[in-house]
Amino acid sequence: MTETPVGNSAPEFYTPQRALVMVAHPDDIEFGMAGTVARWTEAGSHVTFCLITDGAAGSDDPNLSRAQLAALRQDEQRAAAASLGVHDVIFLGHPDGMVVPSLELRRELVRVIRHVKPDTLVTMDPTVFFTANNTYINHPDHRYACQTVLDAVFPAAGNRKYFEELLDEGLEPHKVTYVYLLFTEKPTLHIDISAYFERKLDALMLHASQIPDREEIGKFIGEWDKERGKAIGVQYAESFRVLKIN
Ligand SMILES: [Zn+2]
Repeated sequence: MTETPVGNSAPEFYTPQRALVMVAHPDDIEFGMAGTVARWTEAGSHVTFCLITDGAAGSDDPNLSRAQLAALRQDEQRAAAASLGVHDVIFLGHPDGMVVPSLELRRELVRVIRHVKPDTLVTMDPTVFFTANNTYINHPDHRYACQTVLDAVFPAAGNRKYFEELLDEGLEPHKVTYVYLLFTEKPTLHIDISAYFERKLDALMLHASQIPDREEIGKFIGEWDKERGKAIGVQYAESFRVLKIN
C-alpha cells in the first residue's frame, strides 16, 4: 500500500463497510473522489450518495428552467453514481445556491445518517472559506451544507435526546467512526487512484450539462490529482482530512 499513514486517525487504506457521502451539488463527489469511490466499491464497500441541493443553478442557459436543469442533473448524477458502483443515491432537493445551516436541515441529515448507518461519512471541509492561494471563495452551499453535515454527525446522529421525533420513525441513534473531509487544505490521507483515473473522467463526463470536454477536464483534474499523487509518489491521488470520532 502506498497511502500515507495518518497517525491514529485512520488505517493506511481503510475500506469502509458502509460509506455515506453527503455534499451540496451533483458533480461535487465526482470532482473530489470518484477514484476513491470506484476503489471502495470494487473492494466491497456499500456506498450511498446524498445530494443536498438540486443543482438547479448550474447553468447560464436562458432556455433551461431551474426545474428542467434539476431533473437533468438528477439523471446525470444517477448515471455517474451507477458507473462508480454506488448502491443508493438520495436527493434532498434543496434549491441550489440557497442552503443555510438550519436546524431543519440538520434534522433531515440526521435522518439520513441514522437510516444509512455508515461507519465512514464523507463531506467537504467547511472551514475552507477562501483558498490559501487567494484565487477562490468557497461556494456558500459547500460551507453551509457541509458544516450542517458535521453538526448532524456529532452529536445529533448518535444522541437519543436530539430530534426525539426520529425515534418514532424507528431511527435509533448511530455513531459514525470516520469522517473524511474533501477539498481540504490540510489533508492527512492521500489515496492512490492511478488505476481509477480514467473511470473518474468517465464519471465526470456523465455530468454532460456541466462538463463538455473530456480532454479539457482531464487536463484540469489531471494536474490537480497529479499534485496530490506527488505526496505519496504515485501518478494520481485524491486527498482527505480524516477524523476518527468514535
Ligand atoms: Zn459544488
